[in-house]
Amino acid sequence: MHRLQTKTMMALFAVMFTLTVVIGLASIASFRDFSMRAATEHTRTAAEILRVALTEAMLNGTIDQRDSLLTRLAEVQGLDQARVVRAQILEEQYGNGFAVESVADEIDHYVMQTGKPYYALAGDILSPDFRATIPYVATSDGDVNCLSCHQVPEGSTLGAVTLIASFAHMRTTALLTVLFLVGAAALFAIFSVLFLRRLLQPLVLTATEIEQAVTRASAGDFSMRVQRRTDDEIGQVATHFNHLSDSITRRLSEIRNHVAQLVNSRPQSDTSGDLLAETAATVSGLVKVAQFKQAIEEDESSEEVFLRIGEVFAQEFHIELYSIYEVDQDLHRIHPVMIDGTPSTILQWCHERILEQSSACRAVRTGHVIDGVENASICRAFDAQAYGQGYRYLCLPVIQSGSVGSVAQLVLSTDNAPCISRMRPIIEAYLREAAPVLQAKRLMASLRESTLTDAMTSLRNRRFLEEYAETLVNQCKRRATSMTLLMLDLDYFKPVNDNYGHDVGDQILCALSDILKANVRESDLLIRYGGEEFLIVLQDTSGEQAMGVAEKIRQAVEAYKFKVGGGVILNKTISIGLADYPNDGQAFWQVLKFADVALYAAKEGGRNQVVRFIPELWAEKESY
Ligand code: GH3
Ligand code: MG
Ligand code: MG
Repeated sequence: MHRLQTKTMMALFAVMFTLTVVIGLASIASFRDFSMRAATEHTRTAAEILRVALTEAMLNGTIDQRDSLLTRLAEVQGLDQARVVRAQILEEQYGNGFAVESVADEIDHYVMQTGKPYYALAGDILSPDFRATIPYVATSDGDVNCLSCHQVPEGSTLGAVTLIASFAHMRTTALLTVLFLVGAAALFAIFSVLFLRRLLQPLVLTATEIEQAVTRASAGDFSMRVQRRTDDEIGQVATHFNHLSDSITRRLSEIRNHVAQLVNSRPQSDTSGDLLAETAATVSGLVKVAQFKQAIEEDESSEEVFLRIGEVFAQEFHIELYSIYEVDQDLHRIHPVMIDGTPSTILQWCHERILEQSSACRAVRTGHVIDGVENASICRAFDAQAYGQGYRYLCLPVIQSGSVGSVAQLVLSTDNAPCISRMRPIIEAYLREAAPVLQAKRLMASLRESTLTDAMTSLRNRRFLEEYAETLVNQCKRRATSMTLLMLDLDYFKPVNDNYGHDVGDQILCALSDILKANVRESDLLIRYGGEEFLIVLQDTSGEQAMGVAEKIRQAVEAYKFKVGGGVILNKTISIGLADYPNDGQAFWQVLKFADVALYAAKEGGRNQVVRFIPELWAEKESY
């Protein structure tokens, strides 16, 4: 784990090892060099002493006993051999010397020829020797004039001495010295490594801790702090790192708290989770909520808003099963608007009784979130039996002007329930944004509804027809069918007002509208066209078929007894004019005019009758 430490230690070991080896090799080399020099000097001195001794023997006339000198010399400790070679010219002058004094090898020969000394190591590695073969050169200006006895030219080689010294005792000394040096170097290396290791320890530990802290921070956990070990730069790095972590944690917590306030949720108190990712997810959720708000504000109707809420459930939260209910606060009823991804008015997940009485829905009654994930049996209206026990529910009321305007019921499986519960604050944020928009849309719709509805009879008015005529025509064309317009007018209505007052007139108009409602199909359109004039649009009905309906209506009115107060009962009749689109005319308003012409004909014909338009009636009218 401590890679930095391992690396530095290995580098240090390598450096120290190399240093030790270099010191060892250098000391061997320098010792060898020193030994060579020393041996050279020693042999040169010994050769000189020998020369002096031989010269002295020569002068004293004891030269013939040089053999014993050489033998005793060879017994000197450290000297293995001492041998003299005599030159040819001496033999010519003084006769032959001892047999051992002739040239013995190539080196003797070389030295005798060149007059140059020879120094070199000899023997094997286990018992090294040093050999020096030094020439005696004839000179006239030394301590003894050689030329006074030897009849040879100046500079001639008179002879040579070969000294072979053993190196064995020096080798032990050298080995001990080298061992001592290497040992000292190794000791130095070990102490250096230990010292540096101690020096590096805080750096390595701090670096390791920072690495761990950064790894955890990149996973969103900023809780790890680094220990301050020293007062130097490393300690400062640890302190600064901790300050940075503190500051990030504090700022993130602030952001998280603010974000939590925005989504009306409690921030989780523990900071062990991925603070950054969590906050980023919430912020991006909020951005989407803002975009959603803008989109629904520009939507045309509350139906579109509900559709969009359904899209959000599916796309953002992968919720496929849900109900969205709209609450009619005046009637204390609720009705489904979206079920499982599609606009629907058919109940799916709750008992039928909630349709009868909105208070049967716990979310509507209490205005609280009903959490069927925590407590599956909290709401009795959830139809758990019908869909198996595996489903849970989360019903979120959408509060509009202090009361529940809608309810979003999320139906969850045991798999996605925990995830959705976590996302609840964001889902609620969506619904909170939707609430005022839905209310505004509802208000707009009801305002619009009121301008298109007749307040007295609750029937559609002429303005509605003006807007809706095009749709009616398009439907007709698309289905390749015809529709029939029935224009109705009360017969002799003015006298009712005159005799019984306007209020009674109004009562009769309301009663008449009820009779009309009772006698047309759901798909037919009933319009209060003018004061006491009504228009009925029978869709997918030809003129012939409509005659029957019109006659039925006429009879129903004729048979009805209008109670006008004070025990007075009136009988009233109506006249009906009838025209067929597109068989009687190619334009809607033209056909309407024809129905009016037919009504006029019915009045002309004695009232209380149904007249179907024929082109002659129009010609007749034109002729007036
Ligand atoms: P007819 O249609 O048979 O020719 O005779 P009428 O007496 O019904 O004549 P008309 O259709 O011209 O009469 C219209 C009367 O309807 C005028 C007005 O007093 C009355 N009226 C129109 N709108 C209202 C209303 O909203 N309330 C009441 N009470 N009366 C209305
Ligand atoms: Mg009239
Ligand atoms: Mg009338």
